[in-house]
Amino acid sequence: MMNRKISADLLFYKGKWKTGLAIEVSDQGKIIQISDDLTDCEFFAGALVPGWINAHCHLELSNLEGRIPPHTGMAGFIQKLATVRPKGTNGPTAIHSQLQKMYDRGIRGIGDISNDTSTFALKQKGAHPMRFFTFVELFGLDPNKAQYLVESGIKMSTALPSGEASVSWHAPYSMSAELIEKIGALATLNNQPLNLHLLESSEEVQLFSSGTGPLADFLKHIGITPLPDRFGKGDVLDFLLPLLPKGIPILLVHVTELQPAQLERLRNSGLNISYCLCPGANLYIHNKLPPADLFDPTRDRVMLGTDSLAGNWHLDILEEIKLLSKHFPTLSTETLMYWATQAGADFWGWQDLGEFEVGKQPGILGLTGLQNGRIYSDTQLTVLA
Ligand SMILES: [Zn+2]
Repeated sequence: MMNRKISADLLFYKGKWKTGLAIEVSDQGKIIQISDDLTDCEFFAGALVPGWINAHCHLELSNLEGRIPPHTGMAGFIQKLATVRPKGTNGPTAIHSQLQKMYDRGIRGIGDISNDTSTFALKQKGAHPMRFFTFVELFGLDPNKAQYLVESGIKMSTALPSGEASVSWHAPYSMSAELIEKIGALATLNNQPLNLHLLESSEEVQLFSSGTGPLADFLKHIGITPLPDRFGKGDVLDFLLPLLPKGIPILLVHVTELQPAQLERLRNSGLNISYCLCPGANLYIHNKLPPADLFDPTRDRVMLGTDSLAGNWHLDILEEIKLLSKHFPTLSTETLMYWATQAGADFWGWQDLGEFEVGKQPGILGLTGLQNGRIYSDTQLTVLA
């Protein structure tokens, strides 16, 4: 049993870059001490950060790398996904290998979406040294099927350890109001967080504002006629906000098309809202970035996710950070580090992850190639613990 003591040029501690600190860890990676005593230290030439939290992933699509070309748009992506999503033979192997790659790239916790049980064995306690929370995702526009859908979601979620899954929403264009409300009521009863893909594409905005466009055409194509009367009325939030439960944590994913007035409305909604940005996936599918500089790090809870390998080039939080760092120069690296680590750990209550603190076991990542504490495209990552 040998403890290690590691220092570096910079260390991300209590939300800030700090200098002159060393972390002592057990051989299991548990933090024993953080101090300014640098005697007998290993020194890492770069920056130390805790392990990442990938707040939005669809592990079960990890065997679809490169199967859907970039820039299909939302309707194009959904249609292509339906054709390439195999009940594949190499699925479990590819998914396990991508999970291991995420671990090797420093990810220590995953907020994952499941539409089926194909990843449940991997996410069972002890099967992999990462933390998972699974949103068992439901969709369906027929209000008469809402109860049946919720019951099947509950049945599916019971296959995962209690406290590590909730029956959750998909998107405001894919669910009946009844389904949205029933899922909200269930999560409130069980005090569980919920996930919603929101304002992901201009097609979603167009569907709600005018009732037309590629998503409208897609819905008609799959037999949703007439279209539900929520479409063509205006802002999606007019439809959505009255249906969402107050109190439980709600994670709004993507928000690529979020406008300042909508953000203000969400801030004043009385809802317990957090946001997850997936810039790589937005670029891949929509050739657009989320409005990351709209958020006020002191008011808005933001985290980062990769989304799925069907709609991104990689499952790598550092690459997501690089994208935001490059395109949003006003966002500080400290903010990005916080979004990529502690924000997600706090959302799911993963008390051992997300920050350097005595007694925690968050992983220790070494970053090189920073300039003045800022991350650039040539920043490299080494897993130190
Ligand atoms: Zn997603």
